[in-house]
Amino acid sequence: MTDTDDSEMRDLLALAERLGRNPLVIQGPGGNISLKRDGVMWVKASGTWMAEATERSILIPIDVAAVLDGLAAGDPACETCEPFVRRDLTDLALRPSIETTLHAVMPQRVVVHVHCVETIAAVCLSDAVERLTARLSGLNWSFVPYVRPGAPLGRAMLRHLTAETNVLVLGNHGLVVAADSVAEAERLRAEVSQRLARVARAAPKPDREVLQAAAGDGYSIPDDDRRHAIATDLVSLAAARRGSLYPDHVVFLGPGIVTADAGERAVDAARRCGRVGTPLVVVPGAGVLVHAAATPGARAMIGCLADVTCRLASDDPIAPLSADDEAQLLNWDAEKYRQSLDARMP
Ligand SMILES: [Zn+2]
Repeated sequence: MTDTDDSEMRDLLALAERLGRNPLVIQGPGGNISLKRDGVMWVKASGTWMAEATERSILIPIDVAAVLDGLAAGDPACETCEPFVRRDLTDLALRPSIETTLHAVMPQRVVVHVHCVETIAAVCLSDAVERLTARLSGLNWSFVPYVRPGAPLGRAMLRHLTAETNVLVLGNHGLVVAADSVAEAERLRAEVSQRLARVARAAPKPDREVLQAAAGDGYSIPDDDRRHAIATDLVSLAAARRGSLYPDHVVFLGPGIVTADAGERAVDAARRCGRVGTPLVVVPGAGVLVHAAATPGARAMIGCLADVTCRLASDDPIAPLSADDEAQLLNWDAEKYRQSLDARMP
């Protein structure tokens, strides 16, 4: 499958890399891509990064009919889809994406799933359907209310698909587009992202003096100034304080955000909240502090939170994930596996 004459696969991997390098579309190991042909679905392996698609093998072959049969039969193997890997076609010793069922249920050859910031900023609101209806007219789209990724999401998608559906917008999660060519899938992805685009507010500068006073014991000021918007833009801060807006936030940063009280050090705030070593501590009005042990995935997700919240308005009806949704993500073995791969990244 790495045959250099395989132009379709090359195009798919080039698209994966391009999307993976755009933090407004993909953050860290999030998002995934697939191609179905000859009964085999090549889907991103769990924990791999789309941004690395042309540097290393990220795709793993799946018996797609077996996944669909498993979903219909309620087979618990659909939770990881590991038993459906065509090990005869690969020597990649990884699990398939936890979102493999999401790709399998779409009949089109090419499926692209992104955690597009513009989409997330619409679907973390209670009036998401009204907003999408106004922006996506003319497209064959459908909305799937939030359900945990994995087999439950695959099954929920099946209930919302018609023969024509090629855009699925996932509540509190992201976007799925499907087409029979790589170019058409990307055209659709770009069109939906562009139609949902909102104005990103510019944030006040961080207060480095206050941040320095709260830093230490592993916490320091990140280089990338845009991350401080979570703390320095008061509308962004209020939105972030409402809770977890999408699954990868919970998986990589824990539920909600930890904020330091006035004059409190980050390490003490984390301890007070029972979150020792938490990757992100927000110092309201001043900026953010990031723990030295924060994984690449966690760092990417801090950027995502800044990018999503700076698109939300003060009167937006924010609808965060419930405590039960958060607990399901944190206690899910498949996610623990993905986190362990992230922790091993250099
Ligand atoms: Zn996803």
